[in-house]
Amino acid sequence: MTTRRAALGLLAGGVAHVAQTSPLWAEARHSYDLRPVPILSGVWMIEGATEYFSRDNGGAIVNCAILQGKSGLILIDSGSSRRYGEALNLALRKLDLRGVSTVINTHHHPDHYFGNQVFADKPILALADTIAAARTEQDGFSDNMYRLLGDWMRGTEPVPPSVEIGTGDIVVDGRRLTALPLGGHTASDLALIDAETGLLITGDLVFLDRAPTTPHADLERWQDALTTLAAVQAPAVLPGHGPLDRAGIAIRQTSAYLTWLNDRLVAAAGMGLDMIEIMESPLPDQFASMGAQPQEFHRSISHLYPEIERMILPRAN
Ligand SMILES: [Zn+2]
Repeated sequence: MTTRRAALGLLAGGVAHVAQTSPLWAEARHSYDLRPVPILSGVWMIEGATEYFSRDNGGAIVNCAILQGKSGLILIDSGSSRRYGEALNLALRKLDLRGVSTVINTHHHPDHYFGNQVFADKPILALADTIAAARTEQDGFSDNMYRLLGDWMRGTEPVPPSVEIGTGDIVVDGRRLTALPLGGHTASDLALIDAETGLLITGDLVFLDRAPTTPHADLERWQDALTTLAAVQAPAVLPGHGPLDRAGIAIRQTSAYLTWLNDRLVAAAGMGLDMIEIMESPLPDQFASMGAQPQEFHRSISHLYPEIERMILPRAN
């Protein structure tokens, strides 16, 4: 090693050492950079990374929608941790000094509601079954999120939604919405149509360029929900994960992926493959290029395959 390279190596080692021990660095590394982007009149979004939870992204993988209400902002989904909620709160006060007036949670997955803690003094609305599921599963979700995200989760305590939202045409803080009670991604998924702009906010019923997650999925019911959402013919669709869709592709893409996933697993069960053999098979290009692949495909095999095998195998015997 030349003297210069040795010196650079030492320097790099020194920087790494400082970086690992400096509280300032730790603070900087564990702060979220959340920027509300205006997308329509009186509507903003926070766009999450199209990745799985990691200690690099701190769980900032979810989309949040923000609607201008009469007495403040209506926040739809609140992110993955207390710290995320705090960053969101600060960012949103720059849009409206009064801050958030109301929170709505689309479903009970933790990346969509663990920021609620910061808005606990506001009405937090969701479907009744979502409220019940969040209450039942909060401890398990919390353990898992601490395991996945470590220090990003410090001080986070799940605050389930507490106010049952009406369905059909409703008014929330002066803003007219249509609330569609659906399911399939989980047992209870809420989609919202903003009357003023036509924006369809889907929660995790729709993903774009990011593989759908399936830990609580009922694929048949999910496809029915996608048929309902396609019939809305919204001019813009905000998926739960992935970019805003103004081209009408997100619902079709999600449906095509779920169809392929189901067919792939049914065929594998017919051939008597085990989970490892399915994981080793390549993904079609159109699905391999999605965010969080192949990890999400592998997780879906473990979520869905035992049940599909159980249904298929008796027929094979
Ligand atoms: Zn979800």
